[in-house]
Amino acid sequence: MNDIKLAVLGGEGVGKSALIVRFLTRRFIGEYASSSECIYRKHLSIDGRQLNLELYDPCSQACEGKSTLTDQIHWADGFVVVYDISDRSSFIKAKAIVHLIRELNLGVAKRDADTLVFLVGNKQDLCHVREVRREEGQRLAAESQTQFYELSAAEHYQEVVLMFSKMVHNVSLGGKAK
Ligand code: GDP
Ligand code: MG
Repeated sequence: MNDIKLAVLGGEGVGKSALIVRFLTRRFIGEYASSSECIYRKHLSIDGRQLNLELYDPCSQACEGKSTLTDQIHWADGFVVVYDISDRSSFIKAKAIVHLIRELNLGVAKRDADTLVFLVGNKQDLCHVREVRREEGQRLAAESQTQFYELSAAEHYQEVVLMFSKMVHNVSLGGKAK
């Protein structure tokens, strides 16, 4: 596979754009225009193979024919579902998204592997105002067969890169590898 399509999904303000920009540019800039470009493209070389990575960052406006969550789920090969550990409502939203991905992907062989959906609790640096316990994230991940990460786009550059790299790797193997 040469093209890899990842969708970064989650509620408003959880840090989707921050995570993507951090991964692609190393930088954490703090403010991200909600109407900015929706698809980021990057050329990668992994395990000696050339890959075209497309990262979908939903913005407030509908773009490139992916206006609904269902459209976004059908488009992508892999999913990073993000919530903010200091915002319980974002966790509830992430849970609904994970369930919808599982529902829509039932019976779709290429997508039923647990390696292709990651659940990410972002803003770990805000743990003093935490509203979602780490165990809750772990439990949702275990129940929905997703891999779990708790990290901070602001402070954990290495973890952000590792997380995206792992997802790219899994998708490039067709989701078969565990
Ligand atoms: P999006 O709507 O999901 O794309 O969220 P943004 O990426 O625009 O981030 C929303 C706000 O949260 C911005 O003010 C970011 O600076 C902030 N933010 C993103 N990630 C982190 C993080 O890891 N820690 C903290 N403290 N703030 C973050
Ligand atoms: Mg954004």
